[in-house]
Amino acid sequence: MIDEREVANAAGLITGAREAVVLGHQHPDGDSIGSVLAMAMMLDARGIRVQASWPDPFAVPSKYSYLPGTDLLVRPSDVRPAELVVALDCANLERLEDFKRLVPGAGVVNVDHHPDNPGFGDANLVDQTAAATAEIIYICSRELGLVVELDPARCLYTGLVTDTGRFQFTNTSPETFRVASEMVALGVRPVEVYDNVYQGDSLAYMRLTGEVLSRAEFDEGLGLVYAGVTREELRARGIGMDETEDLIDSIRTLKGHRIAALFKEQEDGRIRVSLRSRPDVDIGKVARALGGGGHKVAAGYTSRERSVEGAVEELKGALGAI
Ligand code: AMP
Ligand code: MN
Ligand code: MN
Repeated sequence: MIDEREVANAAGLITGAREAVVLGHQHPDGDSIGSVLAMAMMLDARGIRVQASWPDPFAVPSKYSYLPGTDLLVRPSDVRPAELVVALDCANLERLEDFKRLVPGAGVVNVDHHPDNPGFGDANLVDQTAAATAEIIYICSRELGLVVELDPARCLYTGLVTDTGRFQFTNTSPETFRVASEMVALGVRPVEVYDNVYQGDSLAYMRLTGEVLSRAEFDEGLGLVYAGVTREELRARGIGMDETEDLIDSIRTLKGHRIAALFKEQEDGRIRVSLRSRPDVDIGKVARALGGGGHKVAAGYTSRERSVEGAVEELKGALGAI
């Protein structure tokens, strides 16, 4: 539940603003990008000058390129300070990376559903029971003076679908279905997400999935299924790192696993680790212990190790300790 006073504070900050910067997290997923575009369009419709962005690498993942509102996106280096900063789907200020420079002197509205969000905003619409940041935006929209017309709804619906694993994860609630139902009643076509997000793979990506799956390992003792993907492999196939967001979902289909991990070698050689767990394991705690964060069943971090093998051992050590 969101505190009414926080909603009133956020409404006050929005009402007084002429300019706003709307920010999502690095490596945006459907919830982050959908929330950013929806919020940007709704603030723009109120006559507020909007710059929407997220930390580098700044590109709209191709499967989300169908979303409206991208004309309001501004490259990170071009973003100018504004009196209102709206942070979406960001668990903490660190997730804003260089955009932290915009926070002093601005009114900050923090909308998020991560359990470890410390409430870094001047107004905090934070609810860890919400399925997605997009769900919170929709529920609070009326009190915030924002109108969810069809285009913002298409973006918010995308956030709902992607963060709930198509309404199948434990975060899916009656409220999630109510919000989704209202958006479909507004004219959102569920098949739009399916066509673009779930039937948006290139042949190269499909083949990469096959290769990664063929290398998957299962540590029965830890209940850990895992695989790695290297930058050379991505480069050779012409696949961007931003296209690998859902690769983790392909390895978590294994019967009997408790934890799934995907080790992704970045352009700079660092290893980003995506973690997913069954509802009885708090994988967010493990991610935080390794310097990252996330939800109880979906989390991530960047490893201190410089090789996939090293990162695998690091994770196994951390899992052995819980
Ligand atoms: P991903 O595996 O990248 O889809 O991330 C899963 C969840 O963990 C998302 O809620 C992310 O916001 C969160 N997360 C991933 N990486 C980090 C990180 N380095 N720091 C904090 N949260 C993270
Ligand atoms: Mn997210
Ligand atoms: Mn989210």
